[in-house]
Amino acid sequence: MNINLKSLEVWFVTGSQHLYGPETLKKVAEHSQEIAKGLSAASAIPVKVVFKPVLVTPDAVTELCQAANNAKNCIGLITWCHTFSPSKMWINGLKQLRKPVAHLHTQYNRDIPWATIDMDFMNMNQAAHGDREHGFIWSRLRKNRKVVVGFWQERAVQEKLGAWARAAAAWHDWQTAKFARFGDNMREVAVTDGDKVSAQMKFGFAVNGYGVGDLVKLVNAVSDKEIDALVKTYEATYTLSADLKRGGKRHKSIREAARIELGLRTFLVAGHFKGFTTTFEDLHGLVQLPGLAPQRLMADGYGFAGEGDWKTAALVRAMKIMASGLTGGTSFMEDYTYHLHPRGKVVLGSHMLEICPSIADGQPSLQVHPLGIGGKADPARLVFNTPAGPALNASLMDFGSRFRLLVNEVDVVAPEEPMPKLPVAQAVWRCRPNFEDACAAWIYAGGAHHTGFSQAVTTEMLEDFASIADIELVVIDRDTRLRQFKQELLWNETAYGLKSGWVA
Ligand code: MN
Repeated sequence: MNINLKSLEVWFVTGSQHLYGPETLKKVAEHSQEIAKGLSAASAIPVKVVFKPVLVTPDAVTELCQAANNAKNCIGLITWCHTFSPSKMWINGLKQLRKPVAHLHTQYNRDIPWATIDMDFMNMNQAAHGDREHGFIWSRLRKNRKVVVGFWQERAVQEKLGAWARAAAAWHDWQTAKFARFGDNMREVAVTDGDKVSAQMKFGFAVNGYGVGDLVKLVNAVSDKEIDALVKTYEATYTLSADLKRGGKRHKSIREAARIELGLRTFLVAGHFKGFTTTFEDLHGLVQLPGLAPQRLMADGYGFAGEGDWKTAALVRAMKIMASGLTGGTSFMEDYTYHLHPRGKVVLGSHMLEICPSIADGQPSLQVHPLGIGGKADPARLVFNTPAGPALNASLMDFGSRFRLLVNEVDVVAPEEPMPKLPVAQAVWRCRPNFEDACAAWIYAGGAHHTGFSQAVTTEMLEDFASIADIELVVIDRDTRLRQFKQELLWNETAYGLKSGWVA
């Protein structure tokens, strides 16, 4: 799967008015072009930034917003008011705009030229008050946007725009995304279930179920030649014990895993799916529970979650888009088991099989072991550790009247000792602010056991994403205080209840 953010565009939109005359407006356009070019070239911004003609009339604003709505590669707008742009002329356009917006509060000139400043300078560099007028109309319309403040050449400013652009790209991806489910949810599980109609209305993506028989048909149609070629790739990419290699007495298990991967890929490509779920309770006709296949498909950018968890599959896909081109991987994850030693309480995150090798520390090992549940043949899976460093877990829950996105910042640490008998990939992490408060906050917030885990995606990206999606965001980080956190949940409950009744 090809995730190429450089094919996407953000439009750089400058507001002004006719009052200044053609000479000033010409300068405004030149400066805007220069800024757009500078941002487009910035390594922190992963998409193209495209200059659009300076807007000086209400009709021009409306036409620009309509054009942005209809432009397939436009993922959002960066707005800026170099000079003063009266905001009533923006109302009709912004009411129709359906693309995300970052309001860049910057100034073309970094410095005040103290010795030479005159009214010409003042006339040209007015963002200090022009952007305040612009901000008011966004707040008055009660529309979400990201406000980024600072000099446009500063790395920190470009990084904030970059985080927003990654969130906007993930949002753009969701608007046409389809997710396939083989089997329903794991029976009786609540948190991974939810309202797929609400989700499509809110998020844009479609989730539909398919009989596992449709997949089995494709798996069975895979040729020996295709399997031979894929097994060669496995042998070149991972370490395998001799009995799993060609000629080995358990090699059959590897061939079966390759057959499942090839069948799944055919299904996903043919249906233009961006992610999928499986469930161990519905595997009729599949010889193994798919383990290696979801691992390798996730590494290629597909969203995935086990046990029919379509919300996490969609979230993992969105996080894969946000992380595109960055160092550090992104995976489906589950809080599995704890180390409660008083000197260092940590979480061991893993799943039955399906952890993405994008988070592997070094070369994964391809292994075959029995699986306690599912009643199938021993499945193949990649086994590895995750490198130490900052990471986060994110979880999307359906609260009936709204969705909540929950994030916990964590620090992956090296396991205290090797775990030679653990037959699955895993990550060991410390929670921020500490184990007790993080876990209590997560549980008060109703966070799922399934998450999207990433060492590339930042809280800022998820914050921007939640704002674009207009859903609740709750963050557990080093500043979290449990009593305050419980109050935040209570206030959010009230705020979101009121919000649905507000008239802008
Ligand atoms: Mn699970």
